[in-house]
Amino acid sequence: MDYIKPKNDDNLAIIYKPDYEILNESYNGKKEKYLYIFDDENRKYCYKFRKQGNNFVCSKCAYRKRYIKATIEKDNNDKEMVLLKTNKKHICEPIEYDPQEGNGEIKIIYPPNFQLVKRRFKGKILQKLVIFDTNDKSLCYEYTWMESHNFYRCNPCIELFSNVFAKLKFDKDGKEYVELGKNEHVCKLKKFIPENLVANILKEPDFKIDKYIWRGAEKRRILVFDKTKPGHFYVYGFKTGNTFLCSPCEKKFHKYVIVKLYENESEEKYIEIKGEHFCKSRNKV
Ligand SMILES: [Zn+2]
Ligand SMILES: [Zn+2]
Ligand SMILES: [Zn+2]
Repeated sequence: MDYIKPKNDDNLAIIYKPDYEILNESYNGKKEKYLYIFDDENRKYCYKFRKQGNNFVCSKCAYRKRYIKATIEKDNNDKEMVLLKTNKKHICEPIEYDPQEGNGEIKIIYPPNFQLVKRRFKGKILQKLVIFDTNDKSLCYEYTWMESHNFYRCNPCIELFSNVFAKLKFDKDGKEYVELGKNEHVCKLKKFIPENLVANILKEPDFKIDKYIWRGAEKRRILVFDKTKPGHFYVYGFKTGNTFLCSPCEKKFHKYVIVKLYENESEEKYIEIKGEHFCKSRNKV
């Protein structure tokens, strides 16, 4: 697409994910794309746009013959965005976000067919709901907790325009169960990886204490080898006491990935790593 962002165009708003969503929904037995644009103030609410030619129009406003138009475009970095024409204001009120649930059946499942786990993702801890495949318990779908909507949702499916979600509920005996929405997954099952939030302990030679001279003084830093990339490592600069910090993460991303250096009873050195890198491992210091 040739779109170039207009400068100072008051009649155009540029919207990026997660402030909008595109979903396939059945309408009169046909799959149609719908665009949901979330309300700035309360993400529980949104405006629902339906397809009209090459545009999307706000359905509730269109019903009253007012056409609020939006198109899906790519920005200069090839990132998808929505261009919303703002020359006209909505005459409708935003609706509660509740995408159509599909044509299937609501399914109820009990443990051990699901499990709640925590995952590290870009330095954050995310609550995930794992639903195991009925035929092969080593495979699963993983749903991510959506704070603003109060349910768990399959993000790979959202990428494929399908709203597959699950709600965690309690029955009258106080037993936890999961209610799955009607839409089937369009994403693929993946291998289940058990929760992995225990402290990350490493021994030599998985890391190395590296001495170097800086402004005439001897300094120490710790190199931790990247198991996924031979010859690559992360560099942790000395901070204080037994604490070292990943320098690129600190300087470039203002994130702290911390290494603590310890010695056990047999005077072997080991380290404990906390945090997830935003930086990439490198092959020279
Ligand atoms: Zn409207
Ligand atoms: Zn899915
Ligand atoms: Zn880092």
